[in-house]
Amino acid sequence: MTTARVQAWGRLEAAEHAVHRLTERSAPLPAAARPGLPHGNGRSYGDVALNPGGTLWMTRGLDRFISFDAATGVLACEAGVLLDEIIRVALPQGWFLPVTPGTRFVTVGGAIANDVHGKNHHGQGSFGHHVLGLSLLRTDGERIDCGPGLRPAWFAATVGGLGLTGVILTAQLQLMPVRSEWMQGESQPFRSLAEFFALSAAAETRHDYVVSWLDCVHASGSGQDARGILFSASHATEGPPPPPPARARRVPLTPPVSLINGLSLRAFNQAYFHRHAARAGAQRQHLLPFFYPLDSLLEWNRIYGPRGFHQYQCALPRRDEQAATAELLKAIRASGQGSFLAVLKTFGEREGLGLLSFPLPGTTVALDFPDHGASTLALFDRLDAIVREAGGRLYPAKDGRQSRAMFEAGYPRHTDFLAFRDPGLSSAMSRRIFGH
Ligand SMILES: Cc1cc2nc3c(=O)[nH]c(=O)nc-3n(C[C@H](O)[C@H](O)[C@H](O)COP(=O)(O)OP(=O)(O)OC[C@H]3O[C@@H](n4cnc5c(N)ncnc54)[C@H](O)[C@@H]3O)c2cc1C
Repeated sequence: MTTARVQAWGRLEAAEHAVHRLTERSAPLPAAARPGLPHGNGRSYGDVALNPGGTLWMTRGLDRFISFDAATGVLACEAGVLLDEIIRVALPQGWFLPVTPGTRFVTVGGAIANDVHGKNHHGQGSFGHHVLGLSLLRTDGERIDCGPGLRPAWFAATVGGLGLTGVILTAQLQLMPVRSEWMQGESQPFRSLAEFFALSAAAETRHDYVVSWLDCVHASGSGQDARGILFSASHATEGPPPPPPARARRVPLTPPVSLINGLSLRAFNQAYFHRHAARAGAQRQHLLPFFYPLDSLLEWNRIYGPRGFHQYQCALPRRDEQAATAELLKAIRASGQGSFLAVLKTFGEREGLGLLSFPLPGTTVALDFPDHGASTLALFDRLDAIVREAGGRLYPAKDGRQSRAMFEAGYPRHTDFLAFRDPGLSSAMSRRIFGH
């Protein structure tokens, strides 16, 4: 055991934790004086993977592959294996992740505990839909094997269970066959939300993956309610040999102030929109830059300076998705805050399997905000009111501040979840939204 200051991806604060590295899946959990929490690769933005003053069980040492059947695509591995490591093994054999978030540097355990989604929610649902089974270690030493057809109530609590039902030790995943490492797709500019929704619905009938970049500053005074670029693609059936792996660059230091400000943002967004609008049309791209554009710049989260940043991500039910998205954008523009990283995408009809899964049929909006203290938090309160009024919810993987009332309104099955909580586990988020 060591003591370390651990930060989430948003780098808002670094809190002291007792830290144990787990390496043996057959071993009991190390004794902890205070409640513990499993911690994957720390890619959650807020406080879902933090347990200040308590213990973190670091799972990256649980990094073994157990089996892989190249005929069926069924993979069994320990929960600290990164999606990146799965891709390296499976892709050359014609298999890929059926669902992947926008970074491949997350663990299997972290992907299950947040029931992460990708750009193909309309076709494939979320990560939990592709988990065939998992084994869970409770702090009292009990081991629970569960899956969609085995103790399904435990499975539903653990998929999207925010690390609070036990430590996931291993998982069995169904991978997806692909015929090449290339994506065939297109990009299309849109100049209003109505156009975005129409283009997105049409793209979902043609393509496996659909996502949009949104210019969160432009529309003020222009009469438009939004503009952006819609990217859609499917796995290509053939393509040239894979390119040599690109060398990742790293942000070398944390600048003294955020590099994202109103002026740089307006200029950058303007240039980005026009560059992509001019190049709209069919495109072929290797799958790594398509799925993981941010992974080529390691530690990009340092560009927001020493104060760090927030991501605000909500899901809005279908009924009010367009009106509520317009209201959110209006409030963001009025505040003069926001950043280049703004994403708009629709979710399909498949609800998550987890009691606390985030995706719901409708639309998700995600934006990064440099931390400006009280004014940023005041903006989030205004956004919360819009999301709540629309019957939506916030994504715990990105959150570090939503109130208990906001969480309870967004996640009506939270009371069912409590029966599965492990009393030996706690997090900063669980104390904020569950009180313990
Ligand atoms: C650049 C970037 C892009 C992203 N894009 C997306 C996206 O498109 N879609 C999306 O859904 N998310 C996205 N995310 C969020 C990310 O996918 C999730 O936060 C993910 O859960 C992080 O996994 P991790 O291994 O880093 O886990 P951590 O962040 O360390 O932990 C996350 C949660 O999992 C729990 N946990 C971790 N390991 C275990 C275990 N073995 N057993 C039980 N619980 C465990 C922790 O307690 C915590 O509650 C993105 C994040 C980044 C940085």
